[in-house]
Order: sequence, then structure tokens, then C-alpha cells
Amino acid sequence: MAAKAKAIRVHELGGPEVMRWEEVEVGDPKEGEIRIRTTAIGVNFIDVYFRKGVYAAPAMPFTPGMEAVGVVTAVGPGLTGRKVGDVVAYAGNPMGSYAQEQILPASVAVPVPPSVDHKQAASVMLKGMTAHVLLRRVFKVQSGHTVLVHAAAGGVGSLLCQWANALGATVIGTVSNEEKAAQATQDGCHHVIIYTNEDVTTRVKEITSGKGVNVVYDSVGKDTYKASVECLASRGFMVSFGQSSGKPDPIPMSDLASKSLFLTRPSLMHYTATRDELLESAGEVFANVANGVLRVRVNHTYPLSEAARAHADLEARKTSGSIVLIPDS
Ligand code: NDP
Repeated sequence: MAAKAKAIRVHELGGPEVMRWEEVEVGDPKEGEIRIRTTAIGVNFIDVYFRKGVYAAPAMPFTPGMEAVGVVTAVGPGLTGRKVGDVVAYAGNPMGSYAQEQILPASVAVPVPPSVDHKQAASVMLKGMTAHVLLRRVFKVQSGHTVLVHAAAGGVGSLLCQWANALGATVIGTVSNEEKAAQATQDGCHHVIIYTNEDVTTRVKEITSGKGVNVVYDSVGKDTYKASVECLASRGFMVSFGQSSGKPDPIPMSDLASKSLFLTRPSLMHYTATRDELLESAGEVFANVANGVLRVRVNHTYPLSEAARAHADLEARKTSGSIVLIPDS
């Protein structure tokens, strides 16, 4: 039976106010697809990029959102291995999770272990798998490494700090204020730099006795990339994975040559492109939630219909940890 549901829709690029709460036709799942009734939806900074047009948006109108947890309400013809009532989660493509109901390719949905609640799962699919990919695959953090994490109290940042600490690294985090600094310390940062009061490069050089860090995880972009490169040790890894403050300027090759640095700009999608990679990443994340390595901070929840408020707060740096939207009627 074709389903109608309510969803957030964007008809034009712009500020949070362009997100409207509207009725949409959901349809029935086709071959290889499932339909879910969403129960918790993760908000990610990438949703802001698409809404503003920083990343090329799909055809208008579109429903934003790239992460949700839900209950399967219908399965496509001939599909095996999934049934109505299953609890699943997904992160990445397809876009459109800011909705009460969503059609998904069954291949992107992973089962949610009963030990992880829906809000937690919606907080760690995209952000947790990003942390996994950054720490275990892009640069393999080991005991003895020193890592620098920008936006250390943010959604991804909080998980990165906890996980890097558990791997035995010395973790340095940057944050904008005291409250976020306290959270970053609880999340395993050995040193927290409040960048509004202190110079990041100077502090990192002090902390590392002039050596610099082995890897920088930089999601802030424009405002931080220069200091990030300065903070690296010889043969260090510059991992630029986001641009919350804007697109970073190009890095001259000579900046890399001066310390034999590595530069990479990873995207989660490329590291979870196969079903095996997806299941490995999701499995590691859920296992680490279950065994307590990752404490999921669902610091903010909003009704789905008020997604605009969540975006405004995220962009204003008012949030820490994860933001989850709860579908309302
Ligand atoms: P966060 O919770 O980290 O929110 C952004 C944080 O960045 C803010 O709270 C703020 O922390 C800091 N910040 C610094 N400058 C600005 C600015 N000008 N405007 C807004 N925020 C700023 O968001 P997410 O956890 O959702 O995402 C973190 C980053 O990771 C994003 O850039 C996102 O695009 C990226 N990402 C990339 C992925 C990939 O595959 N490459 C996958 C997932 C996320 P403070 O107040 O401490 O400065």
C-alpha cells in the first residue's frame, strides 16, 4: 500500500528557514528496497552543506538527511533477509532521512543490536563510522601517537577523542569554550585548547615539546587548516575531512615538502562503499558502544518538524555531541 507521510522539504537553497514540514508521497518499495518508519534521525553538518548549496543539492524540492534508524514497514518483491518489524539503521546515501517514512535500498541498511537504543544508533551510524574510518583506516592510530582533533566536543569529535584515547594515543582537542572543554576532557582529551583564548600552534608545540603531532583530524577547514599543518610532526598526516567554517584554501605543495607531510581528504562514502566495509565499520561502532569504549552523547533532541531549529543551533556552534530528530505527527 502506497504510504503518505510528512517530511522536511527544501524548495530553495538558503538558511534553516527554507526547511518546510510537508506531506509527501512515500510509495512502495521496489525490488531490492525496504520502507522504514523512522524512529530517530541523526543530524549531521553535511545536511547544512546541502541545504546551503555548499555541496551540489539534488533536484528541488528535496528532503535532507543522511542518517536514520527505523522499523521496516514493507519489503520489496522477492527480497529475502529482511522482514517487517526489523529495526535497521543507515548512513550516507540515499538522502531523505528527515521524514516519517523513507524508502531505502536494503543493501545500505544494517541491523541495530538490541543493546543500542534508537537515539544512540542515530547518533553513531554516520558519526561513529566516520570516527572508525578516520582512526582505523585513513591513519591507523596506535599507542604512542599524538593526535590533534578540532571541534573535539562536536558529534564526530566527541567519538574521535574517546576512541583515540582507548587506542592509547595522547589526545589534544580544540574547542570554543569552557563547557565544551569540560566535555572534551571527560571524553579522553589529555589536553584541551580553547582556541578563542589560546593560540593552537603555540600550545601544541608546548605540549609536544616542539615535535608536533602525528595526525590532525580537521573538520573545521578554512579557519584551522593552516594551524593544522603547522602543528604536524615530520611525516605527519593532515586529514581534512570537513569544512564547518568554510572551504579551506589550497595547501601549497611546498608546505607538505617542508616536513614530508601526507594530505588526504577522505569521505565516509568511499570507505563504506561495499557491503563488507559497511558491516565492518558499523559492527566496530556498535561493539564499541556496547563495551563502553564509546559513550554516546545525545545532547540535543528536537521534533522532526523543528529541524530548522536544530540546524540553526548547529551552525551557531551551540551544540555539542550528537543531535537527533524525533519524528512527530
Ligand atoms: P559538529 O558537532 O562537529 O559541529 C560543528 C562544530 O565545529 C561546532 O560545534 C564548532 O565547535 C566547530 N566550528 C568551528 N568553526 C565553526 C563555524 N564557523 N561554524 C560552525 N561550526 C564551527 O558537527 P558534526 O559532528 O556533524 O560534523 C563535524 C564535521 O565532520 C563537519 O565538518 C562534517 O562535514 C564532517 N564530516 C565529514 C565526513 C566525511 O566523510 N568526510 C563524515 C561526517 C562528518 P566549537 O564550538 O568547539 O568550535
